Amino acid sequence: MVQSITERFDNWLRESQEQSADFSANFIVALIDKILVGAADLSASDIHFQPDRRGVEVRFRIDGVLHILGCLPLEHAGQIAARLKVFAGLLTYKVDVPQEGRVRSGRIDGVVQEMRISSAPTLFGERVVVRFFSPEDQCQSIESLGFEEPIRQQLHEAASRRSGAVLIVGPSGSGKTTTAYALLRELVHCSETPRSIVSLEDPIEHAIDGVAQIEVSSRSDSTEHGEKSRILSLDRMLQYMMRQDPEVLMVGEIRERRTAEAAFQAALTGHLLISTFHGGSAVESIGRFLELGIEPFVLRSSIAFLLCQRLLRRLCSCSEKVEQRLEVRLQGVVLTVRNYFEPRGCSCCGGTGYAGRIPAAEIMPLENEEIARAILERRATGTLQQLAQKQGMTPLTENVARQIEAGLTSPWEAKRVLGH
Ligand SMILES: [Zn+2]
Repeated sequence: MVQSITERFDNWLRESQEQSADFSANFIVALIDKILVGAADLSASDIHFQPDRRGVEVRFRIDGVLHILGCLPLEHAGQIAARLKVFAGLLTYKVDVPQEGRVRSGRIDGVVQEMRISSAPTLFGERVVVRFFSPEDQCQSIESLGFEEPIRQQLHEAASRRSGAVLIVGPSGSGKTTTAYALLRELVHCSETPRSIVSLEDPIEHAIDGVAQIEVSSRSDSTEHGEKSRILSLDRMLQYMMRQDPEVLMVGEIRERRTAEAAFQAALTGHLLISTFHGGSAVESIGRFLELGIEPFVLRSSIAFLLCQRLLRRLCSCSEKVEQRLEVRLQGVVLTVRNYFEPRGCSCCGGTGYAGRIPAAEIMPLENEEIARAILERRATGTLQQLAQKQGMTPLTENVARQIEAGLTSPWEAKRVLGH
């Protein structure tokens, strides 16, 4: 018997009501515990408690997709927010300012993951979001990320470089940070000689032995709102750390020009720089760096490796093969697959048809002279894309089409992630 997420929620509601004979604060305490444990069981990455006119909607994000569990009466909004804020050591009486705090693992019975709880005032009360940090033992290596062979090999090669910028590009939720961390871990564990590694992060998600990790603010000027911040801005800290004899620098994410300039400068002066950048495709990220004001010759000489990735939900083994050709339109490109698999749903996948996620990627062939010249000439994204494919880049869409044929993911999931 497959139990859906909403059925689970209804059970938690019923059990909590039974536990607390009356509809009082005890009910909320019991229910929140069940929701937190249930979210951890279902490997949810986030829980939302969102108040609106109808009540407090409870949602789980699982494998990147938001699921609505149900709605609680609006009169409980205050108790729900207060209960969650207590866990994170936040001020329960302050309801008109956003707050954020961390919960160490083990503080909530049955939940062994670390989490971050944040609250924000909205029209109908406080919206509270719980974000789970993946447990330490789930920290992945390049091998365990799930990339296909040629891409895995090139990631290993990128980690063995001594200098240049190694960039992982993608939209938010595409797994780029996980890949960057895997590269960092490979550098710590697999380097022949010890290397001096510094990482600048906002926030630090996991402690990695062998890496000097520094928490920074991604805003380029952390003093812009008056009071001087305890945390230095990313670009300034990057410049300071250059005096501390680093060989490898990881920058959590490049978001603006000053960080980009400092990062590329490091890459050009004999350091290996690992970072992530927001972008829809490998060539699009080149265009976005140019828009930020980075000179084309800087990009051309500093970027050593550029990978663009997505995460797609992996079909559960309960999926069924359909022996039929299918035209799939992904990012404006029509691709034909020889066959595909349909999601079904079983008790293993909670009835969703999917279990876990797999990455898909493209790697831009930057060592090619023609491409280097096109970057220097600031050629349009479309031209760069054609050139890259001519020089052997298998585009993301094609790699995804192969994953559809292999039954790793479905045509519907590919469209959801990549767009039509
Ligand atoms: Zn299944």
